Amino acid sequence: MNEFKKIWLDVLGILEREISSTITYDVWIKTLEAVDIVGEKLILCAPSESNKLKVNREFKTLIVSVLKSLNALITDVEIIVSGEYEKQEELIEEKSEELPAKVEANVINPKYTFDNFVVGKCNQLAYAAARAVAEQPGNLYNPLFIYGGVGLGKTHIMQSIGNALRKQQPSLKVLYIPSEKFVNEYVMSVRKGGISSDFGKQFREKYRNLDVLMIDDIQFVSKKPETQNELFHTFNDLTQAGKQIIFASDRAPSEIPDLEDRLRSRFEWGLIADIQPPDMETRIAILQKKALAQKTVITNDVLTYMAQRLATNIREMESMLNKVILLAKLYNKPITVELAQETFKDYSEPTEEAIGAEDVIDCTCKYFDVSKEDLLGKKRDKKIVEPRQICIYVISEMMPLPLTTIGELMGGRDHTTVLHAKNKVASLIGKDERFDKAITDIKNMIYKK
Ligand code: ADP
Ligand code: MG
Repeated sequence: MNEFKKIWLDVLGILEREISSTITYDVWIKTLEAVDIVGEKLILCAPSESNKLKVNREFKTLIVSVLKSLNALITDVEIIVSGEYEKQEELIEEKSEELPAKVEANVINPKYTFDNFVVGKCNQLAYAAARAVAEQPGNLYNPLFIYGGVGLGKTHIMQSIGNALRKQQPSLKVLYIPSEKFVNEYVMSVRKGGISSDFGKQFREKYRNLDVLMIDDIQFVSKKPETQNELFHTFNDLTQAGKQIIFASDRAPSEIPDLEDRLRSRFEWGLIADIQPPDMETRIAILQKKALAQKTVITNDVLTYMAQRLATNIREMESMLNKVILLAKLYNKPITVELAQETFKDYSEPTEEAIGAEDVIDCTCKYFDVSKEDLLGKKRDKKIVEPRQICIYVISEMMPLPLTTIGELMGGRDHTTVLHAKNKVASLIGKDERFDKAITDIKNMIYKK
């Protein structure tokens, strides 16, 4: 049997257990056929265009996470429709030149320490809480729940706790695990004979004998009721024994969909600390620290330029920095603003310059025939709330702005409100035609301006 067929069979085995409705599984998942592996992507063929859309929208994340947990070399899937295969191939090859999506390994990276974490207003709460937990695990904030956007340092902070503990209290049993792996281990142990079998016991023993349990990207337990149930019991056993639990997530507990209430309330028991996108000063400090770690000195004008160009994702900022340093070495040139500009050439310009949030707000008002005052105001009737949510969605889609900034632009709203609106609209796309139409029309109005 081909390698890709074998991998897919394994994935199917897990998906069948994870997806609680048999009909859903039979209609959308079982009908997919593995046809190839290109680069790091598994290519799956769907029987129709609508199947493809549905799978992309609702199951792709799950499929990818199961896949990653089984095979570290395959990090993505591409869903195609029968007959589409050949023309897709070129596209896929092009795309595989992009950096592979980051797979969090099951180990604590010694590189992530408190010392090399730059503290700013955006992350000071999470940092302080993490330090406190590293000093006295199990005593203060239990669980510690850290959340924030992609690439803002959640994994770094979490693993810093692990590294600090290893140094100060090496006898403690500390485990770091991405939630996809936790899910996978649980499912595997059940598959091998049920949770009361030896495998089930091994799983329980492993987790319930820990002193510190860190689960990263916990949002992935969404929609997995059995794993959630097991996690709930693990949580209770550990906290009752005074052991420390730390979670990291890309959103607040209240924003994780399909999560059992009792687990959500456990997540909220201790301290919830958010990480916001860094301000200019912190971005510059981070770049400087990362450059120094490579024994490279970069002048302030270059740091400022780079911090201006990339505002929301520190991981991206870091990869840009590495590229500039590498090019300077390669061409044997000093690191100047010109060189940085040259490096940024391939990256798209920030769209804020071309299109302002004001344009989106104006066009949304015109489209729905509501006043700007109402759109940005406090009224809660559906006639206003829907346009407001759509406006937030379009801004967030067209502009790389932090949620807090979007909140400010939208009449001083909280970032959680912004996130909620964004997710709400995203969940309706493809389901409610009015939304699809409004979004397309508003965008067209903006482009024609
Ligand atoms: P997340 O888990 O939130 O997606 P990571 O923890 O993986 O993000 O961080 C992405 C990269 O950015 C890492 O290389 C990390 O070291 C770096 N980083 C993030 N925040 C900071 C910070 N405050 N100081 C130094 N480096 C940071
Ligand atoms: Mg992470």
